[in-house]
Amino acid sequence: MSAVFTGFRTLDVRFPTSAELDGSDAMNVDPDYSAAYLILDTDAGDGLEGHGFVFTIGRGNDVQRAAIEALALYVLGRDVAATLADLGGMWRELVHDAQLRWLGPEKGVMHMAIGAVVNALWDLRAKREGLPLWRLLGGLRPEEIVELVDFRYLTDALTPEEALELLRAAEPGRAERAELLRAEGYPGYTTSPGWLGYSDAKLERLAKEAVAEGFTQIKLKVGADIDDDVRRFALARAAVGGDVRIAVDANQRWDVADAVAAIERLAPFDPWWVEEPTAPDDVLAHATIRRRVSPVRIATGEHAHSRVLVKQLLQAEAVDVLQLDSTRVAGVNENIAILLLAAKFGVPVCPHAGGVGLCELVQHLAMFDFVAVSGTLEDRTIEYVDHLHEHFVDPVRIVGGAYAAPSAPGFSAEIRPESLAWFGFPDGEAWKGAQ
Ligand SMILES: [Mg+2]
Repeated sequence: MSAVFTGFRTLDVRFPTSAELDGSDAMNVDPDYSAAYLILDTDAGDGLEGHGFVFTIGRGNDVQRAAIEALALYVLGRDVAATLADLGGMWRELVHDAQLRWLGPEKGVMHMAIGAVVNALWDLRAKREGLPLWRLLGGLRPEEIVELVDFRYLTDALTPEEALELLRAAEPGRAERAELLRAEGYPGYTTSPGWLGYSDAKLERLAKEAVAEGFTQIKLKVGADIDDDVRRFALARAAVGGDVRIAVDANQRWDVADAVAAIERLAPFDPWWVEEPTAPDDVLAHATIRRRVSPVRIATGEHAHSRVLVKQLLQAEAVDVLQLDSTRVAGVNENIAILLLAAKFGVPVCPHAGGVGLCELVQHLAMFDFVAVSGTLEDRTIEYVDHLHEHFVDPVRIVGGAYAAPSAPGFSAEIRPESLAWFGFPDGEAWKGAQ
C-alpha cells in the first residue's frame, strides 16, 4: 500500500510584535507578524509532516488561511510518492485551477496560498530524502530543475532551452560551492537597527552592534519624513563609518518625483541601494526613477506578485537588485523561475527576509542559486532580522554576519508546536484579554 495525504491542517498564528514597534516602517506602522500556517500529514508511518506558511502582518491572516483551506481538495487522498516526484506537475495543477484562478490570476491571496502548499510539499520531500532543501535542489539535474518551472508567459525573456543552458553552464563546481557554503556560510545583512519606530539612540547602538557582530551591510527604513531620514542616515553613517554598506528602504511610500527628490537628498550618504521607492508593481515608475537617480541603485521585488512581474522589471531595466520573497509567489517552483530570470539578465538576487520564518526559507533558495544557478556570491546578500527565530525547530544561525548552511532535513519551515498553540489567534494564551 502506498502512502496518501491524510491531513491538511491550517492555523492562524500571530505574534503581537506591534507592542515593541519591531518591524515598523513608513508603510507598515504597527505589524503583528503572523503566519497562515499549514501542516500536511500522511499515513506513511514515518512521522514526517510537511510544513508551510504565508507570512502576513496581522489582520487578514484569517483570509489567507481560508485561501489555503480552499486547496485541500488537491492534496487530501493523493499518493505521496507520486506527488512529491512531480512537483512541477503539482504546481501547474494548483496554479491553473480553472475556478480559483479567477481570484488572481497568479497574484495575491490565492497565489500565496498555493505557495504555502507548494512549500509544505517541498519541506516534506526534503525531509523524506534526508536533505536540507538547498542541497536537494542543488543536487537535481538541470533537466529536472527546468521541469519544475512553468514557462508560460516567460518565453519572450527566457525559454526552457536557455534555462537548461544556464544550468548546465553552472554544473561544474557545484560540489566546491556547496562545500564553501558549509565552511563559510552565505553573506547576510541586517535590518534590525533601522526600524522607523526606533529612537536615534537605539538606531545608533544597534548599528554599532551589527558591525561588531560581523555584518558588513545594514539597512535603514526611510520614507515617512525626509528630514528625519537625512538625520538618521547621517547618524548611522557616522556610527558605522564609510566602509560598511548602508541600504535604505522606502517601503513604497513615494511617487516618482518624490522619490527622485528624496534620493537626491540621501545620495551624499552613499546608499548601497534604495529599496521599494514606489508602488511595487509599477514597472515603468521604477525604470524612470532608476534612470533619473543613476548611479544610485534601485532594489525591489519583495512584493512582486509573480514571475511575470519580475520578468517585466528585468526587461524594462527597472532594477539593479532583485529581492525575491519566499511566500509572496507560488512557492519554490516560482522562485526557481525568478532565479533563472535574474541569472539570464545578470541581476543579483538579494532575498527579502525578516517577518516570520522568511529568513529560514530564503536561505535555502539563495544557497541553491549559488550552487546551481548563478554560481556567484558577488553583490549577493540575504536580509536578516533578529526576530522570532526562537519559535522555529531549525532556526537560522548567523555566524560572523553570514548565514550558516542549514544541515537538518527539510525547508526549515517548522514552528514549534508550543509556539503554534501559544500564539494561535484568537484563542492562544498570547491573545487572552487582548481583544
Ligand atoms: Mg523591504
